[in-house]
Amino acid sequence: MTARVLSGRELAAAIRAETATRAALLAEAGTPVTLAVVVATADEAGAWYVRSIAAAAAKVGITCDVVDLGPDAAPETIRGTLAALSADDAVHGIILQTPLPDGAVPADLAGAIVFGKDVDGANPLSLGRLAAGLPAFAPATAEAVVAILDHHGIELRGRRVTVIGRSTVVGKPAAHLLLDRDATVTVCHSRTKDLAGSTSTADVLVAAVGRAGLITAEHVAPGAVVVDVGTNPTADGGLVGDVDAVSVAPVAGALTPVPGGVGPVTTALLLNHTVRAAAST
Ligand code: NAP
Repeated sequence: MTARVLSGRELAAAIRAETATRAALLAEAGTPVTLAVVVATADEAGAWYVRSIAAAAAKVGITCDVVDLGPDAAPETIRGTLAALSADDAVHGIILQTPLPDGAVPADLAGAIVFGKDVDGANPLSLGRLAAGLPAFAPATAEAVVAILDHHGIELRGRRVTVIGRSTVVGKPAAHLLLDRDATVTVCHSRTKDLAGSTSTADVLVAAVGRAGLITAEHVAPGAVVVDVGTNPTADGGLVGDVDAVSVAPVAGALTPVPGGVGPVTTALLLNHTVRAAAST
């Protein structure tokens, strides 16, 4: 048996097409859609991610304004910038890029992003509303996990889903979204004892850790669906996930690839959230 490949590319293209249509209609009606990305790092991976968002935004007719505060920006400068963008009617979505300078707490500062423009669900208010089952923009990566499963017709109701990772940007919101879909959710993390014991009974396994090749065949039940959220840079400039695909593919029933799985859906959803935010202003 070899796992079915759950590509995210077709779904991402469909979301992009819908986003472009909505962005064009908004522009015609006098609202050119703008996403602001606040950066306060010299981190190269972060800079690459921001460039890729800007390029993807341009393709769907969204202007991406990068506000680079430099790697030494004080937390109060970042907070003030987020507050000013929140008050700016020409800006419809706001992202706070991580990492941030030492001493700056992302979730704390993201509280300065006004709820309606919090297109990557970074304001703790958005996570709280998500947990309470109230409307909010979910972090795009967490939403992408569920979207890719839906797209490929994977049933979630009543199924055992194990999420590895409990960050506020991926693991926790993904767990809430999966609970909302009536999955029976287990969340694992770095202090989990016997990781394989918790993962190898799951019907669906979501790996959001950031450790290349952490998940091997021993972690996966025969026939399970595996979603690989991890993006780990390789020495040769490539990207690998948290799942050792060579080990897991013969055991799993289905597996998202890296690259080409969760990543493109995440970017597409982020831009889709931005046009939705613009439409509701
Ligand atoms: P993070 O904030 O570093 O969180 C990692 C989580 O993994 C933590 O909860 C940590 O546990 C847990 N963990 C670490 N080592 C572990 C181990 N050996 N066994 C079990 N759990 C372990 O990372 P993140 O921001 O959530 O991102 C996770 C991955 O997703 C990264 O590779 C990131 O690049 C990727 N990502 C991809 C996209 C995309 O668009 N595809 C978007 C965002 C992130 P503790 O809580 O106990 O520390």
